[in-house]
Amino acid sequence: MEPVTFEVAPGVTAIDTFMGGRERYTAAYLVTANQPTLVETGPGTSVEPVARGLDALGIASDALAHIVLTHIHLDHAGGVGALSARFPNATVWVHERGAKHLADPSRLVSSATRVYGEERMASLFGPVAPVPAQRLRVLADGHTLDIGGRTITALDTPGHASHHLALMDSSTGVVFTGDALGIHVPDLPVLRPATPPPEFDLALAVASVERIRDAASSTLLFAHFGPIEDVDRTCDLAVRRLNEWTDAVRGAMRSTTDLDEIVEVLTREAARETVTGAEAQLDLDRLETLAGVRMNATGIARYLTKQADRDAEAREDAGPQAS
Ligand SMILES: [Zn+2]
Repeated sequence: MEPVTFEVAPGVTAIDTFMGGRERYTAAYLVTANQPTLVETGPGTSVEPVARGLDALGIASDALAHIVLTHIHLDHAGGVGALSARFPNATVWVHERGAKHLADPSRLVSSATRVYGEERMASLFGPVAPVPAQRLRVLADGHTLDIGGRTITALDTPGHASHHLALMDSSTGVVFTGDALGIHVPDLPVLRPATPPPEFDLALAVASVERIRDAASSTLLFAHFGPIEDVDRTCDLAVRRLNEWTDAVRGAMRSTTDLDEIVEVLTREAARETVTGAEAQLDLDRLETLAGVRMNATGIARYLTKQADRDAEAREDAGPQAS
């Protein structure tokens, strides 16, 4: 397959990672600088397309200086071990809570296998190679990485995952949003939240959207998939959908604990925002693959259960007089 790359901002070029052979599901981005920097790698099935994309953009195997990850979920980072072997001078940057799972991906792989199953793991994500520990560096909140002529600043943006970072490019003001705003695939005017178990947290997710809104002075660059110009409208929509999806699950949980029934309610909520028609089917499949209703329902239900447990504990601690 020919590499597909397209410029999304001055000196920032999207590379289609062809995740699991699928077009326009997951993007990586090359930031051109004295020290060329790749943001995201895509999964193990994306190593060849991304390496060929970098080659087409004139990045020799010894020239890539940095690989920066928004988070370690396999669709974003499953390929980083194999790709860093192909680009031996690249330093790999990741949130401190993610670093050890890149050096030893066994827990990452087992938890993804629980969510996706063996078959989809192999077809979507492929093999996961470790990153040698000496190649890894951690990025903390507010940390600015100087890549020569421009910088990349890390913003703690938990909610989707506790170790999620958004990344801001100093020279254009674009923000790489990872999964913090959800999924926005081309050609479909839908923004779907990405609320997977075990770490989804509504309050943190909403606060993270607001951090991204404050930081982004131009385009939002989605991992799934590509640029969106209208920062405010997109952030408004992301917050609204996070709340609506959580409300739908909360409502369902008042009358049932059965996951299938909760999924049914959330499927109706998802259908409210989607268009019908044959041409939309491909994109609906994309949304289901990237952030399936069942996965999101599981993540939201888990969040609400944890929250109810916390509330109950707080009431016990407060004692009977505090009603
Ligand atoms: Zn993702």
